[in-house]
Amino acid sequence: MDLGIKGKWALVCAASKGLGRGCAEALADEGVNLVITARGAEALEATAAALRARPGAGEVRTVAGDITTAEGRAAALAACPQVDILVNNAGGPPPGDFRQWDRETWLKAVDANMLTPIELIKATVDAMAERGFGRIVNITSGAVKAPIDVLGLSNGARSGLTGFIAGLSRQPALASRNVTINNLLPGAFDTDRLRVTMQGTAQKTGQSLDQVAEARRMLAPARRFGTAEEFGALCAFVCSAQAGFLTGQNLLIDGGAYPGTY
Ligand code: NAD
Repeated sequence: MDLGIKGKWALVCAASKGLGRGCAEALADEGVNLVITARGAEALEATAAALRARPGAGEVRTVAGDITTAEGRAAALAACPQVDILVNNAGGPPPGDFRQWDRETWLKAVDANMLTPIELIKATVDAMAERGFGRIVNITSGAVKAPIDVLGLSNGARSGLTGFIAGLSRQPALASRNVTINNLLPGAFDTDRLRVTMQGTAQKTGQSLDQVAEARRMLAPARRFGTAEEFGALCAFVCSAQAGFLTGQNLLIDGGAYPGTY
């Protein structure tokens, strides 16, 4: 299926690895021109080279920097001739116990996982509406629907973003101008982030990494982790021309792990 977005420009944040990279790959395969960001230049350039080599890929530009800072966001926006598609992503906050978190820790989480996407949306959404096309995807977490106790910073900050997006996405000034805003909620995906989290659990519990991974896989009826390719394919569809009537949604992609009916 041709997704009808060839030649559009996408800013994909935090895209040298993992889910962000999966999104960039799927958009590159549709002929979308890309600006990708990450903190480390080396991994970012390697990813950009791999993206350019994909059949049908358009232009790929890189911006090394921290997307949670004003400078990082300004540099990313400056590199993109126009932002037709915005994929908001950044590293997730650390696990822990809220008794140990001070105000600074909370502000860092809220900055990264709530205010950064809001700032990038603010900088791009009105021009999208003027042009009559815009797709905004926020990578959040399954923890928004089913909180994970040790990830209180993520549960809290991402829920703030989710509430804000629920209101913004329904503004007629955006929805009637073919600008959609949706959140993708990953369950457990086979990425560096998941491996680091599982290593932490292994150290804490004395189990082997394999035991921890097996137990984690069994939490989803699919009995496996998701892949970045699967995540990217969903992202590309949500960004497609065909998905113009899909807005304000929280789309879980978790192998059936969330146990609720709705
Ligand atoms: P990852 O560690 O595999 O990749 C993260 C990418 O983001 C890397 O390219 C890294 O360079 C970049 N990055 C991190 N912080 C950045 C910053 N401040 N500025 C610019 N680039 C930055 O992680 P992932 O698994 O792809 O996770 C992506 C997001 O999805 C995270 O917020 C994570 O918490 C969330 N998430 C992941 C899972 C999972 O199972 N993998 C589940 C739920 C939520």
